[in-house]
Amino acid sequence: MPHPKTAIVWFRRDLRLTDNPALAAALARCERVIPVYLQAPEEEQPWQPGGAARWWLHHSLTALAAELEQRGSRLIVAGGASLQTLRRLIQSTGATECHWNRLYEPATVERDTRVKQALREDGLHCESHNASSLFEPWTVKTAAGEPYRVFSPYWRRCMQQLTEQPNPAAAPELAPEVLPRVPAEVDSRTIASLGLLPSIPWDGGLAETWQPGERGALARLDAFLSGPLAGYSEGRERPAEHGTSMLSPHLHWGEIGPRQVLAAVGDSRFDAGAVGPEHFIRELGWREFSIQMLFHFRDTPLVPLDPKFADFPWRTDNADALLLAWQRGRTGIPIVDAGMRQLWHTGWMHNRVRMIVASLLTKNLRLPWQEGARWFWDTLVDADLASNTQGWQWAAGSGADAAPYFRIFNPVLQGERFDKEGDYVRRWCPELAKLPKKIIHQPWMAKSGLLEQVGVRLGRNYPAPVVDLRQTRAEALAAFEQLKQRADAG
Ligand SMILES: Cc1cc2nc3c(=O)[nH]c(=O)nc-3n(C[C@H](O)[C@H](O)[C@H](O)COP(=O)(O)OP(=O)(O)OC[C@H]3O[C@@H](n4cnc5c(N)ncnc54)[C@H](O)[C@@H]3O)c2cc1C
Repeated sequence: MPHPKTAIVWFRRDLRLTDNPALAAALARCERVIPVYLQAPEEEQPWQPGGAARWWLHHSLTALAAELEQRGSRLIVAGGASLQTLRRLIQSTGATECHWNRLYEPATVERDTRVKQALREDGLHCESHNASSLFEPWTVKTAAGEPYRVFSPYWRRCMQQLTEQPNPAAAPELAPEVLPRVPAEVDSRTIASLGLLPSIPWDGGLAETWQPGERGALARLDAFLSGPLAGYSEGRERPAEHGTSMLSPHLHWGEIGPRQVLAAVGDSRFDAGAVGPEHFIRELGWREFSIQMLFHFRDTPLVPLDPKFADFPWRTDNADALLLAWQRGRTGIPIVDAGMRQLWHTGWMHNRVRMIVASLLTKNLRLPWQEGARWFWDTLVDADLASNTQGWQWAAGSGADAAPYFRIFNPVLQGERFDKEGDYVRRWCPELAKLPKKIIHQPWMAKSGLLEQVGVRLGRNYPAPVVDLRQTRAEALAAFEQLKQRADAG
C-alpha cells in the first residue's frame, strides 16, 4: 500500500498551533503530519539558551506536546545535527515534504539555508514560512534600498505597509481542531531527556510567575487587553505596577505571534483618544526593528554598531567585584538592586528598570555592555538575541538610535520619578522596606538615627553604594570626550 502523503513540521521558536503557517501548509498539502522538535546545541553556539530560557523551553515543549496529543497527534523529540536528524526522520516516515517557520538570527539563517538546499537536492518539497514577525527584515527599506538605522522612519514605513497588499497583518488563522495521528513506530525521546531543567532547583520564582505555553500566552494577552492596555502609556513607566503585557517570553518562543497580538488589540487603537493601544503597537515595532537590525548587522551581538566605541576605555580596576555586585543586586543603589533581584527571581525585568541597570553598568561602573548582555542572556526568560543586543547597544550609546552618551541616567532621580512611593524597591529589597519614600532611593543620605530606627545598617545588611554616582558620571563623560576627540582626529 502506498504511504499517505507525509510532511514533517519542524517546530523551533513557534511553539503554538494557532496562526502557525508551517503547520497550516503541511495540513493543507498532506494527509499525515509529523510534528518534530530537534535539539542541536552545537548549531546554537555561542548563543545557546541560558538557564532561564532552558527552563522556559522545557515547559513550553511540554505544553505543546499536550496540545498536540489532545488533537490526536504527538510531538517527536530528537537530538543531533538538524540535517542528519531530519533526513533520518524523512526516511523512516516516508515524508516528501518539510515545513518550518523562519527565524532571523544570522547563524540560524545560514543553517536553515543549508538544510533547505540539501533537502531540496534530496527531492523533497521544502518550504519555510513567516510566523514570528509582521515585517520580514528584507521587506522594509529606505528609498535608497538600505536597511533603516533609525526607528521612527522605519516604523512610519511599516505603518504604511499595513495599508498595502498583501497586508502583513492579515487575520491570524485558527488552531486546527484535530490532527492526523503519528504512527506508533516513529520514535521519540522524552522532553525530560533534553536536560533543560536545572539540576539544583533555583526555578521556584519562575514557576510562580509564568505559565509557559500557548494557553499561558493567550491568558496573558486577555488579562492585558481587559486591564492595563487602556492606560498603557503611563502604566508602562511604573515598575511597581503590572502596567505592561509581560508577553515578551511568549513572543520570543512563538507561543503567540505578533499578528495575533495586533488583531486582538484590533480596532480599539483607532478609538478617539486611545493612545494606549497605539503606543503598545509601537513597542511591538521595536521588536520588529531589533529583528531587522540583527539581520542586516550580523556582528552586533558582540561588536558596537558605531565603530568608534570599539576603543572605549572600559574600567580595568576592581571590574570583577563591581560586575558581581551588579549581577547579585548588591550595588547599594536601590532601584538597580531591585531590578537585578527581580530578574534573578522571575527571569524578567521591567523595561524602565532594564534601561536604568544598563546605564549604571555601562556608564557609572564603566563595564562593557557585552558583560551585561551576557548576564541578561543567561537570566532572562525572554532572552532574545535581537532585542537584547539592540537594548544593550542603545543603553551603551553605540547602537542604532542610541541614547546619546552624555545622557547618563541618574538612578536616584529615575527611582524617585518612576517608583514614587518606593513600592518596587520595597518589594525586591525587603531590608529597605521600612524606609520612608523620600529617602528610599538614596539610603546613604539618611540620618543615621533614621537608618537605625528602621533597621538598615549600610555596609552590613544593605551595601553602601559601590561607586560615587556624581564622580563616576564625570569620569564617564571624560572617557566619552576622549573617544570623540580620537575619532575626530582619526
Ligand atoms: C538592556 C535591555 C535589554 C533588553 N533585552 C530584551 C530581551 O532579551 N528580550 C526582549 O524581548 N526584550 C528585551 N528588551 C526590551 C524590553 O525591555 C522588553 O521587551 C519588555 O520589557 C518586555 O516586557 P513586556 O512584554 O511587558 O513589554 P510591553 O511593554 O508589553 O511591550 C510589548 C512587546 O513589545 C516588545 N518590546 C517592547 N519594548 C521593546 C524594546 N525596547 N525592544 C524590543 N522589543 C520591545 C516586546 O516583544 C514586548 O513583549 C531589552 C531592553 C533593554 C533596555
